[in-house]
Amino acid sequence: MAEEEKKPRKIVPKKYPMPEQDPKERVHNFNEVPLGQDAQTAIAEAQRCLQCKRSPNRKVCMDGCPVEIDIPAFIKKVQEGNFEEAIRIIREKQNLPAVCGRVCPYENQCEGVCVVGKKNEPVGIGRLERYLADWERKQGKTGKIEVPPPSGKKVAVVGGGPAGLTVAGDLARLGHKVTVFEALQYCGGVLIYGIPEFRLPKDIVRAEVDYIKRMGVEIHNDFVVGKLETVDELLQDYDTVFVGTGAGLPDWTNLQGENLNGIMSANEYLTRVNLMKSYKFPEFDTPIRVGERVVTIGGGNVAMDCARTSLRLGCKESVILYRRSDAELPARREEVHHAKEEGVRFELLAAPLEFIGDECGNVKQVKAIRMQLGEPDASGRRRPIKIPGSEFLIDAQTVLIAIGQSPNPLVPMTTPDLKTTKEGTIAVDPEGRTSKKGVFAGGDIASGAATVILAMGDGKRAAKAMHKYLTEDPSWPSPEVFEKLSCEI
Ligand code: FAD
Ligand code: SF4
Ligand code: SF4
Repeated sequence: MAEEEKKPRKIVPKKYPMPEQDPKERVHNFNEVPLGQDAQTAIAEAQRCLQCKRSPNRKVCMDGCPVEIDIPAFIKKVQEGNFEEAIRIIREKQNLPAVCGRVCPYENQCEGVCVVGKKNEPVGIGRLERYLADWERKQGKTGKIEVPPPSGKKVAVVGGGPAGLTVAGDLARLGHKVTVFEALQYCGGVLIYGIPEFRLPKDIVRAEVDYIKRMGVEIHNDFVVGKLETVDELLQDYDTVFVGTGAGLPDWTNLQGENLNGIMSANEYLTRVNLMKSYKFPEFDTPIRVGERVVTIGGGNVAMDCARTSLRLGCKESVILYRRSDAELPARREEVHHAKEEGVRFELLAAPLEFIGDECGNVKQVKAIRMQLGEPDASGRRRPIKIPGSEFLIDAQTVLIAIGQSPNPLVPMTTPDLKTTKEGTIAVDPEGRTSKKGVFAGGDIASGAATVILAMGDGKRAAKAMHKYLTEDPSWPSPEVFEKLSCEI
């Protein structure tokens, strides 16, 4: 028996496959690309897990999850076929499992430290999370969710993106009365207006928001804080405020010709498509014109979303122009793979120099130059260097600028004593406290553009600190702390 126990377990080396829409078909529709696994496959995937124990000198999956889901515990329940208990374990820590199961960069998070992944493909933790969240939604539960008796404390959350929704869910679960103030007509932030339907169906985001409402969270949509009311005014009615207003301000190349017709920011383009449903024109009344060729500048998730959306809107060719090589593309590998499968053309090691227009002021070409990689720069990535004399032209009827986003400035601008960094992010200490007593911040507005799960991790830390502030310790760091933070970052 002892001999039997010592035998190393044979592990299926690869993840069980995720069925997907055929690339040739899916470029003509906005339906979700991965179709989801069935119960049998989820259980088989869970069997690949070794149920590792955490120890100080061995990192396991949980160390890679910013919201600290007890991953081995929920996977054990999947192995036993107990999906109800498995999703309950996830929900203890995670307010948006159906979202994270789809868009979390798990390859760099939990799966990046999975022990199975050292020699084989890691356990498909993200896929299991998605399976369970979808399973739960299909059960069709819509009733009120039990929360503790009211604490008597009121919390305002500014911004209903992943950071704000995490704070809202976590504090509602502790009995506080939470109100979310969201500028747009729906909650979800980038999950609603940025990430396209074929990666994250909006019904799924709405169901997650509904779950949070069922905990008693009140949501005020179409409420722009800084215009309708300021943070200072909110503080008169609420015991504490969380600012999670994201990084929705597009960065521009500032190259000649950037103001030509047909050139727009990725944010505007994706908002028109996702929020205003321009792909359903004339059923929805915001048309969008792409022309024969769309050139997207950038190599992150946002750029992949633009390039893939353009194919679905009917352009003949969708080109990504990125100044480094394939290895440095910052987008998730799965997104790059899907983009390639769908026929997006990658012009790598190339950067734009100028945008050229026709006599009517419409963009017609991008002048670009070839690059080579030099020594690593401060970010650790090899620096792209122009190759003299290698200029070339690409025809384009639409150009999308997807080179980054900066923090939304409205709340810092209208809250005089909120300290910001030189990048425009709100300066916060490790608990998410800002320079203004009673005001916390997190997500992209504090970190700069990052990821859903990092925004949620910030939200979780801030919610813990806000609870402590509300219930036991209202002390606040001295102004010098934030003076230093705003200079350092
Ligand atoms: P946001 O999601 O930006 O939410 C902020 C919310 O605040 C918004 O709803 C906004 O309307 C609201 N708001 C702003 N100002 C005000 C105001 N004054 N008053 C009231 N409300 C206000 N991350 C991943 O992990 N995986 C991906 O695949 C991925 N893909 C992405 C694709 C795109 C196109 C983009 C743009 C980003 C992507 N990201 C991805 C990044 C990720 O979405 C963000 O890091 C994350 O959404 C940040 O969450 P947040 O809550 O801080 O901000
Ligand atoms: Fe992994 Fe993201 Fe789920 Fe955490 S939230 S377990 S990092 S997929
Ligand atoms: Fe399972 Fe991987 Fe986590 Fe180990 S590290 S418990 S194998 S998911």
